[in-house]
Amino acid sequence: MDLIRVRNVEKKYKNGVTAIYDLNLAIEKGSFVFVIGGSGSGKSTLIKMLYREEKPTKGQIIVGGLDVAKLKNKKVYKLRRKLGIVFQDYRLLPKLTVYENVAFALEVIGAKKDEIRVKVLKALEDVDLKNKVHNYPDQLSGGEQQRVAIARAIVNDPKLLLCDEPTGNLDPEKSMEIMKVLNDINKSRGTTIIMATHDKEIVNKMKKQVVTLKDGRLVNFKQKGTYDDEDV
Ligand code: ADP
Repeated sequence: MDLIRVRNVEKKYKNGVTAIYDLNLAIEKGSFVFVIGGSGSGKSTLIKMLYREEKPTKGQIIVGGLDVAKLKNKKVYKLRRKLGIVFQDYRLLPKLTVYENVAFALEVIGAKKDEIRVKVLKALEDVDLKNKVHNYPDQLSGGEQQRVAIARAIVNDPKLLLCDEPTGNLDPEKSMEIMKVLNDINKSRGTTIIMATHDKEIVNKMKKQVVTLKDGRLVNFKQKGTYDDEDV
């Protein structure tokens, strides 16, 4: 079954730049999909439209049965509860511990304390950081901070995890640790993962589905893809 359907989507920003042209895409539940392409090819714009940070100017986007562009602002929370988001720059709250950073996402939706504890510890176990629960972000390496951000994104067990250049600030070794964590989450929780990246080595190693964008257009969608320079 498809978790995501993108139909004839165009995104033209107010300044006149068209970031995405007539995009069609179907992504099955449980998939792991890389979105690749050069700088400015539209990767972030696509990710942003999936969580309704941006609206398409034409076409339709369905995520988990919700018509994303048509959602009223006060209903956007319904979409956001279905997904977690990881950014290149981690975006942790510096004055909260690792535990508190992850718990925060559940506190704001009114979860009970016991439930929060169980879910937070499970998420931190999944990213292999159970030994750092009481640390603050500035006491962690970049790779560890990103793993906290991943724990925060999955703590409520979303169907979809969106990652925008999650390894962009990390060296190759730490990047592969992040990829192992994401792969394990995809396998063990069945979370659908969409990851925008321009990291060729990662894409070629992981052998996942690959959506290639070039100048806002879909060039190809491969099942066990590689980063083909001639496409990008
Ligand atoms: P990528 O993530 O592949 O680098 P983006 O989606 O960020 O690509 O950008 C695609 C195109 O849209 C680029 O030409 C970029 O300058 C433009 N763009 C991105 N965000 C905005 C914005 N908020 N306003 C205007 N143009 C934008």
